[in-house]
Amino acid sequence: MVERVVDAAYRQEDEKEDSLRPRLLDEFVGQHGVKENLRVFIDAARLRREALDHVLFYGPPGLGKTSLAHIIANELGVNIRVTSGPAVERAGDLAAILTNLEEGDVLFIDEIHRLPRTVEEVLYPAMEDFAVDIILGKGPGARSLRLDLPKFTLVGATTRAGLLSAPLRDRFGVVQHLTYFPVSDLELIVRRAAGILRVPVEGTGAHEIARRSRGTPRIANRLLRRVRDFAQVLGDGVIDSAVACDALVRMNVDEHGLDEIDHRLLLAIMDKFSGGPVGLDTLAATVGEDAGTLEDVYEPYLMQMGLLQRTARGREATELAYRHFGRPFLRGGAP
Ligand code: ADP
Repeated sequence: MVERVVDAAYRQEDEKEDSLRPRLLDEFVGQHGVKENLRVFIDAARLRREALDHVLFYGPPGLGKTSLAHIIANELGVNIRVTSGPAVERAGDLAAILTNLEEGDVLFIDEIHRLPRTVEEVLYPAMEDFAVDIILGKGPGARSLRLDLPKFTLVGATTRAGLLSAPLRDRFGVVQHLTYFPVSDLELIVRRAAGILRVPVEGTGAHEIARRSRGTPRIANRLLRRVRDFAQVLGDGVIDSAVACDALVRMNVDEHGLDEIDHRLLLAIMDKFSGGPVGLDTLAATVGEDAGTLEDVYEPYLMQMGLLQRTARGREATELAYRHFGRPFLRGGAP
């Protein structure tokens, strides 16, 4: 019962998230270079009445890869089919998806680096020649039948381009890297979301949320919703900097947007491993988090902030990290 209530709450939150998703390129805040390139490619495809070349987006979670895939389909006025690497288990599943596409459609594959290799191989001729090879029968009598596909656009998203196999990566005509958003862009995103959610927010409140959002629009929107709860229950509903600060402290989000897990991670390296280096798996076990999540979600921002470095021998806390926690820099040495 409790589970169902929680589940419903999450689903409601997701639906709201969907209302915040930008639909058109002009509504997508920031990432100007990426947007300008996409604008040209989309206009050119429209002009020539052709399918857009295959597009790969890479960058940390929550930066807008899924939103951009939908935007591409909206701007081109075509349908979008959405799936993800782990969801497509067998080659036949992907072949079924591909043969159901219509001319010009967008196929979005999230976490494309997690496609099983046998499934990935179906994509090669699909991307290059717009065809799938179906094997009929088994054993020596098996025959291969080539089916033509409509010209479609594959949009792939991955948190780490380095995990993609070279043959797959090479088949994308457009490869775009999304980077963490500056605070000024996140402020615009918070104001836009506040407008959609009809939450009164002052400039100082938007700024406070933006600067603690780890450069990530999804986090900015999530913090905005939580701060709104505090503003409505404990204040007069308006989000100013005092309300935002108070709410963020209550949520254990610090000055730099670091949360409890970031703290646990950095403190573990400093206190348990003398500042490092420590291997990822050992660190994950100490912090009680999945190694992949640490690597994809937490570490990129900590590295960008200069608080953590990855070396060949493992993870190290930087001098800045020691300063962040008000401690003397001790790595490797005796206290
Ligand atoms: P990803 O696929 O990279 O994990 P999403 O596209 O799902 O990220 O984005 C997460 C949420 O962040 C979206 O629902 C949307 O509300 C918001 N968002 C992302 N990028 C932007 C942007 N540039 N402008 C406004 N909102 C954005």
